[in-house]
Amino acid sequence: MERINMTTPLVEIDGDEMTRVLWKMIKEELLLPFIDLKTEYYDLGLPYRDQTGDKVTAEAAEAIRKYGVGVKCATITPNAARVTEYGLKEMYKSPNGTLRAMLDGTVFRTPIIVNGIEPCVRNWKKPITIARHAYGDVYKNTEFRVPGKGTAKLVFTDDDGNVSEQEIFRFEGPGVLQGTYNLDSSIRSFARACFSYALSLNQDLWFAAKDTISKVYDRDFKEIFEEVYEKEYREQFEKAGIQFFYTLIDDAVARIMKSEGGIVWACKNYDGDVFSDMLSSAFGSLAMMTSVLVSPDGCYEYEAAHGTVQRHYYKYQRGEETSTNSVATIFAWTGALRKRGELDGIAELSEFADSLERATINTIESGVMTGDLALITTIPNPRKVNSLDFIRAIRAKLEEEIGRN
Ligand code: NAP
Ligand code: MG
Repeated sequence: MERINMTTPLVEIDGDEMTRVLWKMIKEELLLPFIDLKTEYYDLGLPYRDQTGDKVTAEAAEAIRKYGVGVKCATITPNAARVTEYGLKEMYKSPNGTLRAMLDGTVFRTPIIVNGIEPCVRNWKKPITIARHAYGDVYKNTEFRVPGKGTAKLVFTDDDGNVSEQEIFRFEGPGVLQGTYNLDSSIRSFARACFSYALSLNQDLWFAAKDTISKVYDRDFKEIFEEVYEKEYREQFEKAGIQFFYTLIDDAVARIMKSEGGIVWACKNYDGDVFSDMLSSAFGSLAMMTSVLVSPDGCYEYEAAHGTVQRHYYKYQRGEETSTNSVATIFAWTGALRKRGELDGIAELSEFADSLERATINTIESGVMTGDLALITTIPNPRKVNSLDFIRAIRAKLEEEIGRN
């Protein structure tokens, strides 16, 4: 069989532990036999990050900026235990944090829907994508423990020395205080990333905040979204037949529970933190959740939402059998290949991505799955297989699928 040719390389970002093991299996079993895979390879495995003093992470971000599409394996964010385990020179920052900061990106998380792995919410028929604004608010707060009687004020001094001052509260006893901020430029980038992503999925976009209570802060978010929509996206949305609407966060939560899914839900930082975990558990499993970082200038980095599955890796190292779910990592590859195909006008590449996704879903729906899914499936008598056999079962389905086309 002829392999599919690529014109532009994908930025391939390798990672750590069990996901690094799966990465190699996926390439060997599911990609290389079918595609003349062109990648520019960056090894973000912890040993090489350490060897380069973490320079390789910045180089990977530059490469994504250059080529526009990357695919990333899960990586370790070192803590004190990892510094000892790997004999690191430093406790390096989270690679995802570095990539997000360098690409000024927004992260979109989408569950992978499979018959037999049912969402807890019965009417959710299509995936709900969460877009989280990953900047500012309570994550960059300044807090103060009020010891006793006194007056709290909000003071801003501009660079010309003009002072604006307002009272927050007159304390008659101990309590707490918090200051938070955000930037119009960051909110605008976030809004653009959300509008572009909803367009690329051809799905409605919801944005929710609490501007009835927060009449300046949340209103700023609301107004920036509305302004960006009117000026830059309304026409495209109308042409695509999709909708944007703003609503209050409590109303959005109520509506989400009654919706059938198939929407992009843009959230402020804290709301996104909370609701992305709620959604991933309600849809079944973290191992069935994909994640894509989108920059305002249209660069894409695809990955799985889960980590390196450390516990499974230690078993693997001891020579024991593992049954680790590779679905989210496979979908990171298909997302990146499909996008590369779109950008380069290579229809076969995008069609291959569709086939591989169908083969993966059909494998699970036929009752063959990894241990994590076998525990929660509604399919009777599921067959739990090991990590490699699961990928090989997908390969068999993929060959059928492609033979059929
Ligand atoms: P994790 O790798 O997401 O795994 C947590 C647990 O969830 C696993 O022990 C496993 O449960 C289950 N699980 C997650 N993914 C699975 C899969 N694909 N198949 C089957 N089960 C799966 O999180 P962690 O163990 O807390 O973190 C490990 C490392 O990952 C850390 O060093 C952290 O820094 C890193 N991390 C990286 C990213 C990223 O690169 N995007 C994200 C999060 C964490 P059982 O053990 O019960 O089977
Ligand atoms: Mg969280």
